[in-house]
Amino acid sequence: MRTKAIVIRKMQANEYDQIVTLYSEDYGTMRAMARGVCKPTSVQSMHLELLNAIEFEVIHGKSMPIISSAVMSRQHGEVKDSLPKLAAVQFFTEVLDKIAFENEKDVHLWEFLNTMLIDFNSLPAGEAGAAHEEILPLFRKHQAGFLKVLGYAPQIERCVVCSVDPLAGPEKMVALSTELGGVMCAECFLAGGRGVLIEKADLELLKGENDLARLNLARHSTLDTFFEYTVGRKISSLSFLYQVIK
Ligand SMILES: [Zn+2]
Repeated sequence: MRTKAIVIRKMQANEYDQIVTLYSEDYGTMRAMARGVCKPTSVQSMHLELLNAIEFEVIHGKSMPIISSAVMSRQHGEVKDSLPKLAAVQFFTEVLDKIAFENEKDVHLWEFLNTMLIDFNSLPAGEAGAAHEEILPLFRKHQAGFLKVLGYAPQIERCVVCSVDPLAGPEKMVALSTELGGVMCAECFLAGGRGVLIEKADLELLKGENDLARLNLARHSTLDTFFEYTVGRKISSLSFLYQVIK
């Protein structure tokens, strides 16, 4: 049966074979064996490059599925040629790799991943040094979209404890409780609620206001904190991203 997928990670299995982590249209995250791709004669290897959109045949193997007759349909070459773009895109594939349940089909996540790759790929390369202004707004926009698609977007309209508008006060920061799935007003937070402090400006993103000019362009957004909190560990591509954008 033929399926479509994006290559998100590759690991050496033995001398000639690799284990490929894919996000597929039909099965969500899946790991599959690519036999013989490290042989110099392999015709599959170029099709199975990281971030390629591919079509392939899934063959049942003993321990995991085997990739057969893979054909690359989109290469996302502009992303691979730009370190800042590559770093931004790898944030999403890294998070996906860490949290996605295997073999769970998700049409919205599949669409998100494809759109995100195409957006970064078609972003003009710009002048040297302009990476910060061009890449970060797109990155923040997709971070917010990713949270929604993953179902992690917090409730921001009402305090999760007392239901007042948590964004109304003059404070710049607001507390976010991932346990309760939303934002807490200052009073409930000070009364002992547990949460991470995030900037109100970053929450605007989650309201679906994608006015890129108004986005928070600070290096470390509290959206990053929220992702790391949700994933439960450091996301290494974030430090990579902040190193390579100028
Ligand atoms: Zn409250």
